[in-house]
Amino acid sequence: MDDLRPQPGPMNPYDDDHLREECGIFGIFGNPDAAANTVLGLHALQHRGQEAAGVVTFHDGRFNGHRALGHVAPNFSSEKVIRDLPGDAAIGHVRYSTSGDTLLRNVQPIYADLTFGGFAVAHNGNLTNALTLRNQLVDRGAIFQSTMDTEVITHLVALSQKTQMVDRLIDALLQIEGAYSLVALTAKKLIGVRDPYGVRPLVLGNLKGAPILASETCALDILGADYVRDVEPGEVLVIDNEGIHSYMPFPRTQKRFCIFEYIYFARPDSVVEGHSVYNARKRIGAVLAEESGVAADVVIPVPDSGVPAAIGYAQASGVPFELGIIRNHYIGRTFIEPTDKIRHFGVKLKHNANRVHIEGKRVILVDDSIVRGTTSTKIVEMVREAGAAEVHMRIASPPTTHSCFYGIDTPERSKLLAATHDIEQMRQFIKADSLAFISIDGLYRAMGHADRMQAGARYCDACFSGEYPIKLTDETVRPARSARQLSLLAELT
Ligand code: AMP
Repeated sequence: MDDLRPQPGPMNPYDDDHLREECGIFGIFGNPDAAANTVLGLHALQHRGQEAAGVVTFHDGRFNGHRALGHVAPNFSSEKVIRDLPGDAAIGHVRYSTSGDTLLRNVQPIYADLTFGGFAVAHNGNLTNALTLRNQLVDRGAIFQSTMDTEVITHLVALSQKTQMVDRLIDALLQIEGAYSLVALTAKKLIGVRDPYGVRPLVLGNLKGAPILASETCALDILGADYVRDVEPGEVLVIDNEGIHSYMPFPRTQKRFCIFEYIYFARPDSVVEGHSVYNARKRIGAVLAEESGVAADVVIPVPDSGVPAAIGYAQASGVPFELGIIRNHYIGRTFIEPTDKIRHFGVKLKHNANRVHIEGKRVILVDDSIVRGTTSTKIVEMVREAGAAEVHMRIASPPTTHSCFYGIDTPERSKLLAATHDIEQMRQFIKADSLAFISIDGLYRAMGHADRMQAGARYCDACFSGEYPIKLTDETVRPARSARQLSLLAELT
C-alpha cells in the first residue's frame, strides 16, 4: 500500500512556504467590545501579517468566528461583522506567508470542538517538529483540516489524558518544539503562552481592567491600554474571572529573543523586551557609521525599514539626512509579491528617487537587510539613474547567511545572497561603489552589550550566525529536501 503520509514535494503539507509564517496575535478578556478592540489591535499589528486575518469570540455558550483573506480594515470594519462577533472575550490573528495559494482553511484562529468544550488558538512563530508530530498523529487516525503547523497543537490538546483544560494545553506544549507565542480561548479562559526560549514577543496589557495579550505594545497604544509587562519566556498565563495565573511548566533555559524583530520586523513605535525598537534601530545605525564610515554628502534611507537606522547613521557621522527615496504607500511589502518577476517590478512600484537630493551627490544608502539582493540592486540602479556621483550601501544587520526556521519568512538558503557571495561579490552584484554590513558584535553593542560573547546567548541570531538554538527535528525527517536542508543538517552535526 502507498505511504500516504506527508512526503516532500506537493504531498507534504508543510513543504511549501506556509512553513515560515510571520504573524501577529491579540487577545482580550472581560471587555464588552472584545471583537472591536481585537480588530483595532490587529490593525496595529498589520505589519506582522497582511495576507489574512481572523477573530474568534465567546458569548453566551457559543464561539463566533470571522476569517478573511486580505487586510484587517476592509474585512473587519463593517458593523455587521462586529455585531456577529459578540462576547467579552476574543482572540485574533494576522497572517503572512509567501505562498500564493493561501486558503481560507489556513486562516487562524483555529477552532475545534473538543470533549471538554470549544478551543480556539492563534500562533505566531513556527514549530520545528510539527511534521514529525503530524505524521504520528495521522498514524493514530487524526484528520487534519489545514496545512498549518498550529493545528498539531489542537490535536495534542484533544488527545491529552489530563482532565483540566490548562493541564491538557501544557501537556501539548511539552511535546512541541520551535518558536511560538500563542493566544488561546476557551469558554472560560484566555490563555497566553511564550515558548521557553521566548523567540517571538508577547506582552500583557490592561484596558480599564480587561487584560490584553498582544504581539507588540503598538496594539496596546491604539486602544489606550496600559502596558503591564512582557509575558516571560516559557510562561503560560491563564486569564479568567478569578484573575491572572502564571505557570512555568518548562525546564528553565536561556532566553533567545529574535534579534531580527529589532532590525526589521517589529513596529518602530513598539517597546519590545524593554527596548524601544526605534531607538534600537537608531543605535544600530550609529554603530554602523562608526564601523564603516565613508566620505559622502547625504545619508538616504531605503524607506520605510531603513529610516531609523539612517537617522542614527546620519547623527553619528554628521553627514546630512535626506529622504532621497520616496515610497508609494499603496503597495505592500516587497516580499508579498509571490514570483520573482513581480517582485522585481514591485521594487519600482514601491520606490521613486527624489532627484533634487541625489543629483551630483555622494550618497550613503541605508537599509535594514539584504535577503535576495533584489531591493538593493534596484535601489542602487535607481539612485544612479537619478544622477548620484557615488553610491555606498550600508546595511543595518550582518549578512543574512541562513534561513529562519522560527517564524520569519526567509527564502531557502540557496536564495540568500550572502549564503553564496562574499561581501565584495555582493557589492558587485548590487553594483554599489562600496558595501558594508554592521558586524555581529556591533549589533550586540547597539543592543547594549559589550559584544556577542559577553551577551552570552541572549538573542536568536541564527539567520546571521547559523547557530540554531532550538532543535530542527523536522529537518531530519525530510528525506530529500533542498540543498538548504541538507547543508543545515551538516551544520547541526
Ligand atoms: P531583498 O530585496 O530580497 O534583498 O530583500 C531585502 C528587503 O526586504 C529589505 O529592504 C528589507 O527591508 C526587506 N525584508 C527583509 N526581511 C524581510 C522579511 N522577512 N519579510 C519582508 N521583507 C523583508
